[in-house]
Amino acid sequence: MTSRRSNIIGGRDVASEQWTPNVNPSDTSDVIAEYAHGSSSDAEEAVGAARDALSGWAFASPQQRADVLDRGANEVIRRADELGELLAREEGKTLPEARGEVLRAGQILKYHGGQALRNAGEIIDSVRPGLEVTMTREPLGVVSVITPWNFPIAIPAWKIAPALAYGNTVVFKPAELVPGCAWEQADILRRAGLPEGVLNLVMGTGREVGPVLTGSADVDGVSFTGSVTTGEGILATTTPHRTRVQLEMGGKNPLVVLDDADLDVAVDVALQGAFGATGQRCTASSRLVVTDGIHDRFVAALTDAMQAWRVGDARDDGTQMGPVVNASQLEQDERYLAVARDEGGEVRGGERLKRPTAGHYLAPALVVGTTNTMTVNRDEVFGPVAAVIRVADFEEALAVANDTEFGLSSGIVTRSLAAASHFRRHSTAGMVMVNVPTAGVDYHVPFGGRRASSCGPREQGSYARDFFTVVKTSYVAPGSP
Ligand code: ADP
Repeated sequence: MTSRRSNIIGGRDVASEQWTPNVNPSDTSDVIAEYAHGSSSDAEEAVGAARDALSGWAFASPQQRADVLDRGANEVIRRADELGELLAREEGKTLPEARGEVLRAGQILKYHGGQALRNAGEIIDSVRPGLEVTMTREPLGVVSVITPWNFPIAIPAWKIAPALAYGNTVVFKPAELVPGCAWEQADILRRAGLPEGVLNLVMGTGREVGPVLTGSADVDGVSFTGSVTTGEGILATTTPHRTRVQLEMGGKNPLVVLDDADLDVAVDVALQGAFGATGQRCTASSRLVVTDGIHDRFVAALTDAMQAWRVGDARDDGTQMGPVVNASQLEQDERYLAVARDEGGEVRGGERLKRPTAGHYLAPALVVGTTNTMTVNRDEVFGPVAAVIRVADFEEALAVANDTEFGLSSGIVTRSLAAASHFRRHSTAGMVMVNVPTAGVDYHVPFGGRRASSCGPREQGSYARDFFTVVKTSYVAPGSP
């Protein structure tokens, strides 16, 4: 019989009336387990549990918070092979990618365990003689963490870990497609010693569970990663209660390749950036902006490299690209390729692939001969699809790179320090990469973008504190007893 995993509310396993099968995208006959399909009343109960647990956790010793996160981190790291396999099985990343993501989640938990001990305030002399002014950071309160399917363990970790480190309590709603890693992470932290109600897991659909997690007056903050449409909806639901939001939404990230680039480096950076993790990353290099002098050589070499990539079961040895996450995402990728063709692009690759198991396999696709106004260069496709835009020179490349509604990540491949420096200064993205892929970031530095990509304070590293804490300014009179 298929095993079942319940929601975790107030430290207890809470069963639901309906259950959702977690299906492997590499082999749709493989059901990992059934997971609770939570309701809005489960969500309300979870918010209540988080509210009840808040004052205990907010005033808990930083040592206690650090210890829980550190113990949780150790277990995640110790179980990296097993959890990596689960991640590859439920999401479709290759095993090395999945294992790497699990280790990153462990490192994130460890890092924020340390941060719990570094929540220092400031002290300054008042402008009124003798008074002392202090500025301290207090927990924001009850935080809803709403996450997408493409990084099933790392994204939840980078929201939950700082939330807990700074004394907040959490209601966590993972994406419907990837409840497996979410449940394991919540269970690990529960067993690592979190008091009841400090971290609650409500699995279920955004439509049913989401409005409670974002619209409740008992929620003080929402940290969300997902699509622009959902993010904008959350902005509307949170506004009436002035709930603080941190929204990470899409990207349409340019990778500029200049004439003087090392061709091998350019091809490798583009390949990894565009098709790594099946292109299902908000930091994927989806627009390849290539200057005239290297364009034909680059496109020929990238086409060869892309066509040599082995697409297959995420858990098979030697697979370089796993399947697309589900049938509707695959159809969306194909729709965008059809539109790209209609608008005059030449599509290389991008065909459905047959493999021994029934999975959602798509060959990597490169759309050649595009302009920046074409749909494939405006909308986030979120699949193994990249488009090439030919430009005359660096100046045009920079203008095209910045001409987007988004502004998450951007990159350049060049041997010119002057060009790289100019690009770093003038790119209007939140993260800029020189001779490395636009995707693939460190966990101890800020992550985030501009314009439609992000809203609210940055995530990750020490900057995470800005979202998960509120500042208190205190004045102390001289000679106070
Ligand atoms: P994706 O295309 O990555 O699935 P979504 O924005 O649809 O992006 O989903 C990201 C997360 O937001 C998922 O956990 C999803 O369930 C959740 N979500 C979807 N709709 C809502 C909503 N109305 N309110 C809150 N969360 C939602």
